[in-house]
Amino acid sequence: MKIRNRLNPSDPCFSFEFFPPRTEEGEANLLKALEDLAALQPGFVSVTEGAGGSTRSKTVELVLRIKQETGIEAMAHLTCGGHRPDELRAVLEKLKDAKVDNILVLRGDPPKGQTHFEPQPGGFRYASEMTRFIREEDFNFCLGGACYPEGHVETPSRDDDLRHLKAKVDAGLDFVVTQLFFDNAFYFDFVERARRAGINVPIVPGIMPITNYEQIQRFTRLCGATVPMRLALQLERVKDQPEAMAQLGVAHATVQCMELLSRGVPGIHFYTLNKSPATRMIVSALRARS
Ligand code: FAD
Repeated sequence: MKIRNRLNPSDPCFSFEFFPPRTEEGEANLLKALEDLAALQPGFVSVTEGAGGSTRSKTVELVLRIKQETGIEAMAHLTCGGHRPDELRAVLEKLKDAKVDNILVLRGDPPKGQTHFEPQPGGFRYASEMTRFIREEDFNFCLGGACYPEGHVETPSRDDDLRHLKAKVDAGLDFVVTQLFFDNAFYFDFVERARRAGINVPIVPGIMPITNYEQIQRFTRLCGATVPMRLALQLERVKDQPEAMAQLGVAHATVQCMELLSRGVPGIHFYTLNKSPATRMIVSALRARS
């Protein structure tokens, strides 16, 4: 099933993102989260690839396993840092043989300890280059990419970033998924600017339920997402009360999602961090209201 055919404002789909665990405990957490969230019948799930391609074989294995064991459509994240052109073909063949139809094409974060992304010798510098390569290989994949309502952290200007996104979409993307954001105004403004720039593919909002104060501070520092002042004050007030923090995170994300759905988004992608309770509560609340 090609994800582009599931992205429909009149029947928006929920999707869940997971990462390949590194430990046995992490594996147990993932399996529990997968089981809980599979019960919500997501439109698709996706599996990230660690910075610098550090989990590349695990990513593909996990995608194949989810697809085979649950029947849920699973999308592999493939990064420029993890795949040189000469190695990528074998990965594409493996995915195609397993009937995986969807790939999220990314440049990838710099590996741990590095502040800037360095392409591999002979490798792809930008996600647009990898997108073009996959299209030219002609495997008939449905391809997604990343986009940034508040601008990518490295970009000198949002206009530059949008121009590069247009080139990336023109290289062959079928849809894009946004970086997390906590203020829907950034998303709506971004979609308007993207449409004006001639970017016409579905733009799926990415939502991360806040469950942990330090973690969210770290993520927002890394990806540059703004925490609105009122939410920041509320988080500060409950930072030492894990239950209250989780409730606040669920409440904020639910309100965000309700507004996004009421304004016709084609789907919502949840960054689950391999945990199910918050995402399950949000999706259940949204379904109960529809
Ligand atoms: P690109 O689209 O290549 O853009 C990177 C930067 O280069 C941007 O600033 C862009 O404006 C600029 N740029 C693009 N083209 C040009 C050009 N021709 N000339 C000059 N500048 C240019 N990271 C991982 O490591 N693994 C994952 O699994 C992963 N999953 C993600 C999923 C989603 C939905 C999102 C939103 C992000 C994800 N990331 C992941 C993070 C992502 O890899 C980083 O944000 C990375 O820094 C940029 O990746 P990109 O694909 O957007 O890059």
